[in-house]
Formats: sequence, structure tokens, C-alpha cells
Amino acid sequence: MSASSAAPKEPSFRESVDLMFNRAVNVMDLPPGLEEKIRVCNATYIVRFGVRLRGEVQTFTGYRSVHSEHMEPVKGGIRYALGVNQDEVEALAALMTYKCALVEAPFGGSKGGLCIDPRQYEEHELELITRRFAYELAKRDLINPSQNVPAPDMGTGEREMAWIADQYARMNTTDINARACVTGKPAHAGGIQGRVEATGRGVQYALREFFRHPEDVAASGLSGGLEGKRIVVQGLGNVGYHAARFLCAEDGARITGIIERDGALVDEDGLDVEAVHRWIVRHGGVRGYADATFVEKGASVLEHDCDILIPAALEGVINLANAARIKAPLIIEAANGPVTAGADEILNDRGTVIIPDMYANAGGVTVSYFEWVKNLSHIRFGRMQRRQEEARHQLVVNELERLDRYLGDAWSLSPDFKEKYLRGADELELVRSGLDDTMRTAYQAMREVWHNRDEVKNLRMAAYVVAIERVARSYQAKGL
Ligand code: GLU
Repeated sequence: MSASSAAPKEPSFRESVDLMFNRAVNVMDLPPGLEEKIRVCNATYIVRFGVRLRGEVQTFTGYRSVHSEHMEPVKGGIRYALGVNQDEVEALAALMTYKCALVEAPFGGSKGGLCIDPRQYEEHELELITRRFAYELAKRDLINPSQNVPAPDMGTGEREMAWIADQYARMNTTDINARACVTGKPAHAGGIQGRVEATGRGVQYALREFFRHPEDVAASGLSGGLEGKRIVVQGLGNVGYHAARFLCAEDGARITGIIERDGALVDEDGLDVEAVHRWIVRHGGVRGYADATFVEKGASVLEHDCDILIPAALEGVINLANAARIKAPLIIEAANGPVTAGADEILNDRGTVIIPDMYANAGGVTVSYFEWVKNLSHIRFGRMQRRQEEARHQLVVNELERLDRYLGDAWSLSPDFKEKYLRGADELELVRSGLDDTMRTAYQAMREVWHNRDEVKNLRMAAYVVAIERVARSYQAKGL
């Protein structure tokens, strides 16, 4: 027998998600048959289309999978990567269903993907390809403000979303809500402040909330707060970069390892996230960066001694082959599905606390929800209230200043009180406040189930239980 056939088999990504789903429904009491209805993916559309590029017709394969329509529109990103396949898109669509339910974003779950290495194409070629893909999806209502609303994911960003929005608008010239057909657009094309940083920001808010609960921190074997914690980040893309940057600059954590596709950088004293990020943008990888130790076998840094491990790249990076060697007592899944179902079991048995993907990276879809609402209401958040709020605050400040004069040396206003109190919140502040509130509330829903139900052994199972209960309730309300 060969070594590979003797090794325990790793399930596919979709099977992994289903296994985790099954672990949760085993401790739940769902009406017969409903469990199957929730688990299965409703439909996956596969399209092959041609685009004339560089003197020939090139054929591309794209997917849009709809996992659950218990709420509409369905929501989820579009990924550009060579490895995109049906199994992956369906797993990601399922995670979207549970993610939206957990953070109470009123959407079903969907996901799309295109098999392409975007780095191999010029900008104008990517535009042609994206517009053609968008056309194929929009004509089947797989892009539509009230039915299916895509967003960025790996390999896509604001630029692609702007092309998609414009393509939809050209095809639906009288749809007054056309802008709400996709989220993650640039600010000048109907986007919202704070969407680019949102997923990384959500990871930061998730960790802050975790560290507000000493009992949960103790369960991981850690103590204290985020200050001084040693963090290893895998993937310094949009999510990993923003999470690492905020955790360093605003919470006093130290990034002791950064893993990229060409290797890793380590420095126990803490890496300069901004400098490393600039290096990656310029050179396409971390190799050659002078102010840290370079590790050729980047994946080995996942196994380094640290306090918090943030996988922020691909699925399946923590698997049966390396799970037993992972030393971090706390893992926060900034990526979707970075821990396989088998690795999850090994890590749970060892007492590692895992803050699960469907919660940890929900910041992106949460702010997408705000963007969609903004597009449908056709007005920027805060536009009506901001100055009125400032005027009311001015009344209080006037009174306090009168008191200040009256009391003389006995009491005075704090130096920056007036400025801070007077300023009404702008859109970015409102978005961050809404995201913070969402992350806190969702964590509390998970931890209540984790601590109050004996059969629920960890945060992931708790997240599934909360999400599945909500999806089940909406199916039941619909009479299914
Ligand atoms: N692609 C992101 C995710 O996996 C964002 C989805 C969205 O904003 O709809 O959650």
C-alpha cells in the first residue's frame, strides 16, 4: 500500500463545511428533513464564455452558486483564481448563508468564481472579461439588486465591482436601484466609506470582543488583553493587511510572522506591517525584504510559537498534515475555511480556541449590507442628522461654558472635550460603529450557546447552531 493511500483522507472543502454543519445539527432538534434542506446547495450555474483577446478567442469558466434563498437577495463575493471550482464555490456559498444569519445581515448565501489568474492580464483585458462574465450572470438574474448581489473576494476589488455595476446599469437602464446590484464599489461609484478595510476591521473587532471576556481568554490558555500579543498572519492581502495594521497600530499587538506565497518573514520584536506591505506591492512577494529574517518554507511559520494565528489566505492551509504541530493557542479564521474538518477536531482536542470564519470574517458582508441599504435609500448615512446633532451638542457646550465661567478655577472643561463632543459622526464613523456593534452582538450570541449548552463544545459549533436556528426559523415562517 502506498503511503498516500494509508494516510487519513482529507475531505473536500464542501465536505468539510458539511461535516461541521452535521456536528452542529447533531446537537439540535430540527424538524425532520429541514436539516437536509438547509445543508444542500440550491443551484450552481456554470458558464463558459469566450472573449477575443490578443488575436484569439479565449474561453473562460465561471460559476455562481446559490446556497440558500430563505432570504433574498442572496449575497456573496466573486473570486478570481485559477483554483476556482464547483466544490469550492458551493462551500463558500454555504458559508455565506451561515455568516449572514450569524451577523443578522438579511441575505441568503451565494458565491461566484472565475477560473483565471488575474495577474496574467492587462487592465483593459480584465475589464472585457469581467463585463462579459457580468453580462452572463445579469441576464440570468444572478446579478440583481433584489435577487443576487455579488461583492469582492480573492482576486477582485473595487475596480471589478465598478465594472460589474456599470455593466448591470447598461443592461437595465430604467432600474432606479441599479447601483445596489453589487457591493464593494469605489466611493465615487456608489460605494461606502470603510468597505475596503471592513473585513480586516471586523477581525480586529472580533478579537477585541473575545478579549473582553476573561473566561473565554482563559479557555485558550492566554491572559490579559491584546497589548503585546505575538501574532502570525498568513496572507497580507486586503484582509490580512488591514487586520495586522490595525492590531499593531491601535491595540499594541506585535506581528511576529507574515507568511506569503514565496516565503515568510519573522521578527520576534515585531514586523513593520506597512513597510512589508509596500515591499509586497512593489516586488510581488516578501523575498528580499531586508529588515527581518526570511524563511524559505513559509508554511512552516504557521507552526511557530505565537499567541494568535491569523490565517487570512486560502482554505485548507491547516489540515491533517500540520494540525498537530500548530502551537498557537488561539486561531482566528480571517480566511474562509482555512482549517479542515479533520484539523478542527485535532485542534479542539488539544484545547486550541478557534474563532470561526463565518464570524471572524463577517465584517466584509456586514459593511456590504450597509452599502446596499445606502444604495437603496439613495442617500449617504448621516446626511440628514449630522449638523442637527452638532447644533444640539452646541447647546450643551454653551451651558457647560457658562458653568465653567461661573465656577472659575474650581472646575473647567477638559481641553479637547468641546471639539470631540461637537463633531457629528461622518459616514466612516457610522460604518465602523455599526460594524463594531454587529461583531459584538454576534460574538455574544455565539458565546451564550457555547457556555450554556453542554453539548456545544466550541465556538464553531456555537456559530453553526446560532446560524442554523435562524435559517430554520425563516424557512418555517415561509411554511417550508
Ligand atoms: N467575499 C466576502 C466574504 O466572503 C464578502 C461578501 C459580501 O460582501 O457580500 O464574506
